[in-house]
Amino acid sequence: MSKFWSPIVSRLTPYTPGEQPKIARLVKLNTNESPYGPSPLALQAIAREVSDSLRLYPNPDAEPLKQAIARRHAADGVSVREVFVGNGSDEVLAHAFHALLQHGKPILFPDITYSFYPTYAGLYQVEYRAVPLAEDFTLRSEDYLGHGQAIGGIIFPNPNAPTGCLLGLADVERILQGNPERVVVVDEAYIDFGGQSAIPLVQRYPNLLVVQTLSKSRALAGMRVGFAVGHADLIDALERVKNSFNSYPLDRPAIAGATAAIEDEDYFRKTCNMVIASRTALAAQLAGLGFQVLPSAANFLFVRHPQHDAAQLAAALRADGIIVRHFKSERISQFLRITIGTDEDCGVLVEALRRHL
Ligand code: PMP
Repeated sequence: MSKFWSPIVSRLTPYTPGEQPKIARLVKLNTNESPYGPSPLALQAIAREVSDSLRLYPNPDAEPLKQAIARRHAADGVSVREVFVGNGSDEVLAHAFHALLQHGKPILFPDITYSFYPTYAGLYQVEYRAVPLAEDFTLRSEDYLGHGQAIGGIIFPNPNAPTGCLLGLADVERILQGNPERVVVVDEAYIDFGGQSAIPLVQRYPNLLVVQTLSKSRALAGMRVGFAVGHADLIDALERVKNSFNSYPLDRPAIAGATAAIEDEDYFRKTCNMVIASRTALAAQLAGLGFQVLPSAANFLFVRHPQHDAAQLAAALRADGIIVRHFKSERISQFLRITIGTDEDCGVLVEALRRHL
């Protein structure tokens, strides 16, 4: 490691993303992408933008997209000044962690959660405490209450990743009410698959930042678009962090495609419902094969077989050309996280599992 950079860099444990296959014929159920394409209207908008406008710089604030997001949530009182956009919700989250830099107080997040959080905390030197989940892998809102002045912020995915467990909106509100002096970031990457978003709470809680992505329910993972909704002061701080890098939030095709995807409510609802129906069917089939299936409100299932080692099962599936996610960390090392694919993909998976069990 070069001695010329900060010693922090040599101590970082970088995030390891899920494998991206080199050949397209694999059944890829490991990184929670949508099995369906993006909205056809989004594809048209992207094509139009590419053919007409690539020689022009993009709108530096991605204004059309912010307007579309604000319009979609207008009934909840959301205005453009309460919307932030970034290159994937990962970038939005990175700016949020950066905004907590040198805060001096540790932040809280669940001990089993999106593994980018500890990575970002390490990079931005934000101390953290990992709060254990309950025995049944649910997040208990009471664990995030009563910390007095000792805590600088809270972040959790809802539904949680990689478990898929949902925290009800009343519990989210309990956490907000109990922490009026610190930011509470709710990472809603998977909220569209059966959860209730906290965006309607934004007008009442100036400490709430809701982060969402277009990578899952809107099938634009390859484009990198995410956003946050929160009080204008929280958003303003994120803009300051972003603009300190002189970075454009999004390129022209991304602004056009994401705007059209947000506006195509019918396609969004239809494809989310298809994923939810496939999830219900797959959960029943896996339970029938003897798997313990955690209740999921996401586009994946978190499952364990009492008689079969998860790493070996993942390897056996891999040999069949089916990729699922296996995590090595101790408490979840006997689980597999399986993205909901098309019904055909799910059928191939179930057939393969039948052979391996
Ligand atoms: N939050 C959670 C909980 C996730 O699982 C993911 C996807 N890996 C993200 C955020 C980031 O998604 P993206 O950067 O594609 O918006």
